[in-house]
Amino acid sequence: MTPQSCRCLCGAVTFRATPAKPEMGACHCGMCRHWSGGVFFGVDCTGPIEFASEEALGVYASSDYGERCFCKQCGSTLIWRMRDGSHAVVSVQAFPDPGAFRFASEIFIDEKPDSYSFANDTKRMSGAEFIAQFMS
Ligand SMILES: [Zn+2]
Ligand SMILES: [Zn+2]
Repeated sequence: MTPQSCRCLCGAVTFRATPAKPEMGACHCGMCRHWSGGVFFGVDCTGPIEFASEEALGVYASSDYGERCFCKQCGSTLIWRMRDGSHAVVSVQAFPDPGAFRFASEIFIDEKPDSYSFANDTKRMSGAEFIAQFMS
């Protein structure tokens, strides 16, 4: 796909990201829920994320291999990425038209609280299934 202009709520962080496909996935893991304040809907992106400026970008190392990017000014959840830069998942809400992405998959379904579930017909994977695929 072509690069798209993404931004946080306040506009202090803007960047260009290139979606791999017009699809989004939900992550039900405890860290994503705590971080995003909901369920994290992410879009797999290819190539580098090009930031206009990283001045307002906060980066939190949430595990040995992953880190989470947010706006230090407005708190928007923006990007989960591998610390080695090999992979980035951008919040669908940062894109100009979040509704353009089909809801295709749900991961860490085994960590989803029983208090909600999505009716969409998605591909569902447990955390172990997802990691096995990701590390292969
Ligand atoms: Zn902001
Ligand atoms: Zn997660």
